[in-house]
Formats: sequence, structure tokens, C-alpha cells
Amino acid sequence: MGDEPAFIVDTMLGNVARWLRMLGYDTLYYRRIEDWRILRIAERDGRIIVTRDRGLHNRARRKGLRSILLEQDDMAERLAYIALLTGIRLYIDLDRSRCPVCNGELVRVSREAVRGKVPRRVYERYTGFWLCTRCGKVYWMGSHWEGIEETLRLARKIYEEMRGED
Ligand SMILES: [Zn+2]
Repeated sequence: MGDEPAFIVDTMLGNVARWLRMLGYDTLYYRRIEDWRILRIAERDGRIIVTRDRGLHNRARRKGLRSILLEQDDMAERLAYIALLTGIRLYIDLDRSRCPVCNGELVRVSREAVRGKVPRRVYERYTGFWLCTRCGKVYWMGSHWEGIEETLRLARKIYEEMRGED
């Protein structure tokens, strides 16, 4: 599984899973899954559990598994906290990103390769495109990108503050 941390994210935290994938980390997420399955997968793959459920968190810890109890509601705070505990990067490099929808790996593709697969205005306006090798979804740094960068800027700031407190 490499040196990079990999995660399994508990139900109700789908947005956290999407962020971890965009940041480039192998992250499993299921809308419905029993706690014992999460524990088993975490143990099998060496994944870090991310949950809001204190009971699950405590069970994981008792089994010697790595688990992060997320009590924050704000995404920037959540990402900063995960970074503090695991050392994840708080910037996005799409060449390393995973598909936020399916966790597949992304590959950079030519503009010509996405002709007809993205809206015409997107094709005309952007030059960098990435394709999910699993589900085929195409990504580019669209209008939502500023919001993503803003959240990450904030996360990095909170992270520095948290580190200062130790
Ligand atoms: Zn995908």
C-alpha cells in the first residue's frame, strides 16, 4: 500500500472521503457499512479509520488500529486535524489525486482526448484535463477551484495554529 496513509471513512462523512481522495489518498467510503466491517477492512489493509462515532473509535483503539475521531463540523478544521495526526498534504496536485467519486486513480489526458466528453465551453476554456481510470469521469480546474483552494488555505492556517499549541 506504499508509505502514504490510506483511510476508511465512516458513514455520514462522505464529504471528508471526497476531500481525502482529492488530496491524493486512497480512501474507502460506503454509505452503509457495519462497524465490524470497517474494523475488519482497516485491519486487513492497514487503513486509518475516520469517524464521528466515539464507540467505533474506542473499539478500533482497543484493537490497536489507528482511528481519528472527528468532532469538528468545519471542513478546514477537519482537514487540519487529520493532517496533524497523519501528516497528509494540505494541497492538491491533480496528478496525484484520486477520483472523489470512486477512489480511482486519475491520469492527465490531452485536451483532444476529452473533446465531446465535456461541455463545449469547458473544452474551449481549459487546457488541463484528468481522467479517472476507473469510472471515466473527467476533471479540470473549473469554477469551483477557488473554493477548494480557499478551504485548503484555511486548513493550512489552522494546522499551523494547532501545531503551535503543542
Ligand atoms: Zn472515478
